[in-house]
Amino acid sequence: MSKRILITGGAGFLGSHLCERLLNEGNEIVCLDNYFTGAKENVNHLVDNPRFELIRHDVIDPFKVEVDQIYNLACPASPPHYQYNAIKTIKTSVMGAINCLGLAKRCKARVFQASTSEVYGDPAVHPQPESYWGNVNPIGIRSCYDEGKRAAETLFMDYHRQNGVDIRIVRIFNTYGPRMNPDDGRVVSNFICQALRGKDITIYGDGKQTRSFCYVDDLIEGFVRLMNQDEFIGPINLGNPGEFTMLELAEKVLAKVGGSSKLVFQPLPGDDPKQRQPDISLATKHLDWEPEIKLDEGLDRTIDYFKRLV
Ligand code: NAD
Ligand code: UDP
Repeated sequence: MSKRILITGGAGFLGSHLCERLLNEGNEIVCLDNYFTGAKENVNHLVDNPRFELIRHDVIDPFKVEVDQIYNLACPASPPHYQYNAIKTIKTSVMGAINCLGLAKRCKARVFQASTSEVYGDPAVHPQPESYWGNVNPIGIRSCYDEGKRAAETLFMDYHRQNGVDIRIVRIFNTYGPRMNPDDGRVVSNFICQALRGKDITIYGDGKQTRSFCYVDDLIEGFVRLMNQDEFIGPINLGNPGEFTMLELAEKVLAKVGGSSKLVFQPLPGDDPKQRQPDISLATKHLDWEPEIKLDEGLDRTIDYFKRLV
């Protein structure tokens, strides 16, 4: 049955894919964004659809709409962007969560929180299961994001226990794909755009730190499965367990794009996690979900997108 769905951060990378997916399923979408890291261009192809509504609004201020479901994605996600105004970042996570939860409580809507693998910090347990409480620096340069997202999870659980709000929490591991902002500083978009522009590939630290990269379509499928089942509220990890060093990623990108770019080594930013890989057994068990798109295929699709853009 068609639903009325609010997506905060809907004009961002993940949000725009989610808007498209849920609109194509026949739902009515209210997309709310302040365009800090997102852009109208990401949803331009949807605005003529009468079931799509685009609103400029900041989630730190309350908002009133009548909806059946809420996906709360509003928050800058790349380290340079979330560190640009750290106070605003933590306000966005905390106030945004409170405003979405208050709205969900009033509308009796199901509400989804886009949490992150950053709640595990620089993990001492590998791979990371949801039962791991993490190793997070509360006072470092990543804390505005990590602790903001941790506080948002706390708020979601407390509104659930105290007020019976119907919540879902996803911990997203590094996800990439078309419509990433080419200049937002995340590693996949950086390496691809640097290679396409013939610039040096910037490796932070020795490049031996690892991440596990999930293609956007796989992630969005997991979001929708979690939201449309009644048994499990999360937190649940969604990500691709394929784990790579940043050097391996750079070599893959260079081999695909070609050109004359060289690797250059730059200082590792503070508190940069050394390793990261999702344990996805809960997602497999509760959602029958696992990613289908391997890094090679996802990179090809993403490179095609950036070729048209840069
Ligand atoms: P993004 O930066 O492309 O999207 C975030 C969107 O939120 C943007 O459109 C931005 O303009 C909007 N926004 C930011 N602050 C806002 C505010 N105060 N009010 C209203 N809108 C605001 O990043 P993304 O990768 O699409 O991330 C979406 C969500 O998923 C974020 O909450 C992020 O923390 C989470 N997440 C993403 C990843 C990933 O790998 N992509 C990993 C973990 C968590
Ligand atoms: N990174 C890098 N070069 C870049 C951008 C990032 O080597 O140009 C590294 C970064 O230090 C980190 C990894 O790539 O170890 C992933 O960085 P990203 O900002 O994409 O995400 P996060 O650190 O939040 O997982």
